[in-house]
Amino acid sequence: MTRVRFAPSPTGMFHVGGARSALFNWALAEQSGGTFVLRIEDTDAARNRPEWTEGIISALAWIGIHGDSPFFEGPYFQSSYEKQHREAVAKLVTGGRAYFCTCTRDDVKARTGSEHQGYDGFCRDRGLGEGAVRFRTPDEGVTVVEDLVRGTVEFPNNAMEDFVVARADGSPLFVLANVVDDIEMRIGQVVRAEEHLSNTPKQQLLWEALGVTPPVWAHVPVIVNEKRQKLSKRRDKVALESYREEGYLAEAMVNYLMLLGWGPGEDREIMPWSQMVPLFKLEDVNPSPAFFDEKKLRAFNGEYIRALPLATFVARCEPWLEPDWDRETFARVAELAQTRIAVLSEITANVDFLFLDEPVFDQASWDKAMKASAVEILTGYLDRLEKVNMDPESLKTALEEVGAEHGLKLGKAQAPVRVAVTGRTVGLPLFESIEVLGRERSMERIRAALA
Ligand code: GLU
Repeated sequence: MTRVRFAPSPTGMFHVGGARSALFNWALAEQSGGTFVLRIEDTDAARNRPEWTEGIISALAWIGIHGDSPFFEGPYFQSSYEKQHREAVAKLVTGGRAYFCTCTRDDVKARTGSEHQGYDGFCRDRGLGEGAVRFRTPDEGVTVVEDLVRGTVEFPNNAMEDFVVARADGSPLFVLANVVDDIEMRIGQVVRAEEHLSNTPKQQLLWEALGVTPPVWAHVPVIVNEKRQKLSKRRDKVALESYREEGYLAEAMVNYLMLLGWGPGEDREIMPWSQMVPLFKLEDVNPSPAFFDEKKLRAFNGEYIRALPLATFVARCEPWLEPDWDRETFARVAELAQTRIAVLSEITANVDFLFLDEPVFDQASWDKAMKASAVEILTGYLDRLEKVNMDPESLKTALEEVGAEHGLKLGKAQAPVRVAVTGRTVGLPLFESIEVLGRERSMERIRAALA
C-alpha cells in the first residue's frame, strides 16, 4: 500500500509537467490500492494566490484525480503544519544536528573571498541561541540517493554546505517543510520533477536526522519543447487549463501526459487509463528529457474524438455551440464533423454557417475561390438549385454538370459554391451542408455572393 503525494506550489497556472507528475503518482496509488495525498505547498505567501489553488484542484479533477476516489486524501495545506516545522527545527538543534547562525552574506564573502563559496561553517560551534538555523552536513563521505528513475546518484558531502532550514524569525524553508510534511503524512515514495534532485541529498540527510527512514525517490524527467528547451510558461503553452478550454478531451490529455517519459511498451501509445495503470512502473521511466509534442497531442485528441459514441460527442460539443443554435440541425451534421476536427473548439467554425444569417466569410478563402469562372459557376448552380432534388447525390451531379459546361472538374467548381454557402474553403462535405441548410437559404447565399 504505497502512500505517495503530489505537492504543488500554488504560484501560477497548473502546468502540464505538474499534471504528468500527479498522474504518475496517481497510477502508483491506484495500482497498489494505496493513497495519493494532495498537499498544497502554500508557504510562499508573496507568490501564492487562492485562485491558483482552486485552479490546481479543478485541473486535477478534470484529469480524474479527485476526492470522490478512494485513493485520494487531502488536500492538506503546508501552511497549517507550521507548528510541526518549528518542532522539527528545535529537535535538530537540540540533537546537535543544526545550529544557529548570524552570519550575513557579506560576512561569508569577506571571510571566504568569494560570493560563490558555500557557507564556511563559522557559527558551527559558537553555541548561539538565535539566528537562522543551519543543518550540519557531514564533512566527508558521500550521500547516496537511490533513485528509481535515475539509478544511484552520489553527492559528495564536502560539496554540500551547511544549509539553512529556518530563517531568523523561525519560519522554515522549503527544504525542511517539505520533509516534515512528508514524514507527517507517512509518505513512502516521493515522485517529483527532476529539478528537485539537487534538494534530495539534503532532504535525505534531514529524514535521517529526524530519525525516520527516507522514502523511495524517483525524479521524473524534464519536459522540453521542439527546440529542446525546458517548457516555460513565458514561451510555451503549458497551462492544463488552456488545453481544456481549447477542447482537448481529458482522456486524450491523460494518455498523452503518461507518455512523457514512459510508455506501455511494444510501441503502444493510444491506451486508456485503466489499462495503463497496472503496467506503469517507475523503473521504466526514461530519465532523458521528454518532448512535449503538441502536434502529436492534437493527433491523439482527434483519435479520441473519433472514438466517442456519437451521442457523447454531441454532448461534449455543447460548450462550443451558441445557446440559440438549433440542436436538431446540429445533430444532423454532428457525425460528419466528428471525423474532421482535432479539438472540440473547432466545431464552431465547422457548423456556424448553418445557424447564422450570413456565413462568416474568411477573406483569404473568398479571394481564393472567387476567381475567373466563379460567377458563371454560381449563376449556373443557382439555376439548378431551383428544381434539383435536395439530396447530396443530386446536388453533386448538378454541380458536376455546371462545372462541365465551363470546363471545370468538380473540385474546382466546388470552391466558389462552398465559400458562398459556408464562408470557408474547408469544412463539412459540401452537398450534405447544402442539404441541411436547405434550398432557400442556400440560394439566398449564392445570390448574395453574386451581388
Ligand atoms: N512544491 C514543490 C513544487 O511545486 C514540490 C516539491 C516536491 O514535490 O517535493 O515544485
